Amino acid sequence: MQPLPQVVAPTVAINGTDQRFAVHRVYCVGRNYADHAKEMGASGREPPFFFFKPADALFNVPPQQTVDWPYPSLTADLHHEVELVVAIGKGGSNLSPQQAGQHIWGYAIGLDMTRRDIQAQMKKEGKPWCIAKGFDHSAPIGALSPIEKTNEITSGPITLHVNGELRQSGDISDLIWNINEVISHISQAWELAPGDLIFTGTPAGVAAVKRGDVLVAKAPQVSSISIRVC
Ligand code: MN
Repeated sequence: MQPLPQVVAPTVAINGTDQRFAVHRVYCVGRNYADHAKEMGASGREPPFFFFKPADALFNVPPQQTVDWPYPSLTADLHHEVELVVAIGKGGSNLSPQQAGQHIWGYAIGLDMTRRDIQAQMKKEGKPWCIAKGFDHSAPIGALSPIEKTNEITSGPITLHVNGELRQSGDISDLIWNINEVISHISQAWELAPGDLIFTGTPAGVAAVKRGDVLVAKAPQVSSISIRVC
């Protein structure tokens, strides 16, 4: 028998400790801010829909540093999407929105990087668009803040600057489906497990980035991250 593969489980850093949060799945919500839904051609009132990124597509960004992040292959229209990320500490199925809050472990700031040109092509052809969303390193993420530190987050600004210029600006209270509703919806379709992460959607202003750009994603209640596209 050949040597067995040595697989390292993906983890995310935690603010204020050397311990790491082991990641199970990475769920993402599509079009969850009305202004972004409209810029993508929807009405802003559709039911939530979900897609996955592979857990090992997470790209840990340490605090207070700008780190190099590799521009992916196969795209000439790479978009940023700044998102609040929710970490699940306790699993469950068929959760009500009222129950959902007890399942939250903490929060992080993240980026749902997207090969927009490939996504548009796949949509046009009626094909799955995993290749547009789930590529390697497609999910830069900062350290998690435990909910004991942040309290439950239902509002507050979320922004993305590119080279110092404000590109995306929203408020978490503007989510079409709020965090508890998102958790509830996901738990109807899948059994949520400890270690699941949920990228909760992006506000308007998504646009292309190029090599050399510096992206700063920020939700002041949680943290900020900075990457240089290279
Ligand atoms: Mn997104």
